[in-house]
Amino acid sequence: MSKYTIIKCGRLYTGQNDDFLTDMEILVEDDRIKEVDKTVTAVPGAEIVDLSDATVTPGLIDAHVHYSFGEWRTRAHDTIYEAPIYHGMYALYNARKSLARGFTTVRHCGTNCNDAYSVVVAKRMIEDGQFDGCRLVVAPHYLSTTNGHGDFSKLMMTNPYLADRIWQDYPGRGSGPDEFREVVRKQIKYGADFIKIFASGGFNSEGDGPEDYTFTDEELQAIIDTAHAMHKKVSSHTYGPDLVEKQLNMGIDGIEHGALIRDPALLARMKEQGVYLVPTFSPYEGIIHPNEDNLKNQSPGMRRKLRYYGDWLREAREVIVASDIELGYGTDFVAVHYPYEGGWEFYNMLGSGVDPLRALAGATRVNAKIVEMEDSIGAIAPGYYADVAAWKRDLLTDPCALLDCAFSMKGGKIFRTEADI
Ligand SMILES: [Zn+2]
Repeated sequence: MSKYTIIKCGRLYTGQNDDFLTDMEILVEDDRIKEVDKTVTAVPGAEIVDLSDATVTPGLIDAHVHYSFGEWRTRAHDTIYEAPIYHGMYALYNARKSLARGFTTVRHCGTNCNDAYSVVVAKRMIEDGQFDGCRLVVAPHYLSTTNGHGDFSKLMMTNPYLADRIWQDYPGRGSGPDEFREVVRKQIKYGADFIKIFASGGFNSEGDGPEDYTFTDEELQAIIDTAHAMHKKVSSHTYGPDLVEKQLNMGIDGIEHGALIRDPALLARMKEQGVYLVPTFSPYEGIIHPNEDNLKNQSPGMRRKLRYYGDWLREAREVIVASDIELGYGTDFVAVHYPYEGGWEFYNMLGSGVDPLRALAGATRVNAKIVEMEDSIGAIAPGYYADVAAWKRDLLTDPCALLDCAFSMKGGKIFRTEADI
């Protein structure tokens, strides 16, 4: 027998249009939305959820998380010293915490440890109902060259013998197009929903910089072609405009960060080619809106690089905000905040002048396309999964609104919110 729930919404953002409807109802049958209307069909015995004093949205999506650690202050240490089960258990923990904060789907963009397939296990356990948690879309290991941004053995670079031993076994490591073809095939074989690569160096790592190219052209093309042959997308951590352009010519699907893109024409080309951008505003906030407390919590290397690139980052942020490219919504919290604190990206987007409705579109319909689930999540509409969140504060005026979740439902099931756990 079907289970029915009727949700009464004071205000409703459906994720499909840039507006709010008032006094609406949602009829949920089992795990799906059946009707959305001023008054839905009265089903005897339906559970009534009264959110008439709140704003209802689709369950939100964070398109850039790293879920396999817990305490960001000791993340580097834990990467080396903790066992695979630790990373899998933390993926479950973070998924539960995110769900309690109204984020019903997240895209896990890789882990730097030698057995990140534990995150695939966490995903499966949640799907099978053994644990409560948001939906996980997973790239288990990110792909990196030696000394690339994903070469976590640099954490022990003062001991080359041990660093080499640990790096040699990393499943995302390769050298040359043949090795990377094999790496892509194995990631997909063991459960990757997409492929995540570190095409450029980065900020939060020693020994590489955001303008560094880490793959050869042949390696990049081999990765993209192999993933596409198996119908998987490739998402590329990239900062500099030259490398973004190079990958556009190669058929890349999406760019993570892009924080040094200050050429509007390049963003226009991305839009025209249908290449998505997940700009992850949050990690660079300490320098964009100078905040010593925030910077203090970053690693010394990241702090140094943020200061060096400060003007460029600020200029690029303005260009990205002024463009009309769809912005994905992703936090990339590995420092400063916990991985499940997805609401902070809204705060940082609004603080950079992004319209709240554009930010909400990012966390719903734009991200739904990025995770290739646009027909089933990211909208309050008949046929979609009943992934529903509600918020106590005004989403149009309060940048902290997505930090205050009043209600969380995934697949028609109501979960406890942050205040309860
Ligand atoms: Zn990341």
